[in-house]
Amino acid sequence: MLKNRTAIGIDLDDTIANGLAFIIKYLKENCDINIAHKHGNGPGEADFFGITNEQNNKMFREMWDHSDEIKLMDKNIPGIIKFLSKDYELYLVTATVAPKESYTKWLLEHGIKFDNVVHVNRSNKKITYGIKLGINYYIDDFSEVAKSVADAGKHAILFKRPWNIDFAGRNKNPLIKAVDNWSEIKEYFLDIQRENPASHIK
Ligand SMILES: [Mg+2]
Repeated sequence: MLKNRTAIGIDLDDTIANGLAFIIKYLKENCDINIAHKHGNGPGEADFFGITNEQNNKMFREMWDHSDEIKLMDKNIPGIIKFLSKDYELYLVTATVAPKESYTKWLLEHGIKFDNVVHVNRSNKKITYGIKLGINYYIDDFSEVAKSVADAGKHAILFKRPWNIDFAGRNKNPLIKAVDNWSEIKEYFLDIQRENPASHIK
């Protein structure tokens, strides 16, 4: 492991792992809501779907109990992760409710390998631990994470999802870059390297 490389922290749920098909099915079966017309004012999935954080955690636990139904957010993710791992130290930084053995197995099955895994109990701890670990870039779909990262002077790449689209549209913070897909994430790091070829070295 090269310790002199710049580190990237990457989120799991809804950034790499796409369980939306399971979630829609789950919500239809368990909640009396019409998802198509639901759009809350809060920052995360729970607000978006109009459910409590506890209900959201229960739903994600069930989703990971059915990990065979979880897909990659983008089929190019394994290749892009491999590409990034040549120049950067890669951390999975997740607050998922899934058991570690469940998501590490899923990642392995999908050909994704991280240098390190950091499991935090709340999303707002990502930056706290990230700073200690020297992580400079964070890829996440949660706008609150992007905000805390930018507040700490680090770089956030916000993966656009329905629950952060308003935030992404309003964002003027130069430390937060909203992207539509993983190809844009690859481009983001290629641009950094084009501007400063040694940027991945601390
Ligand atoms: Mg997420």
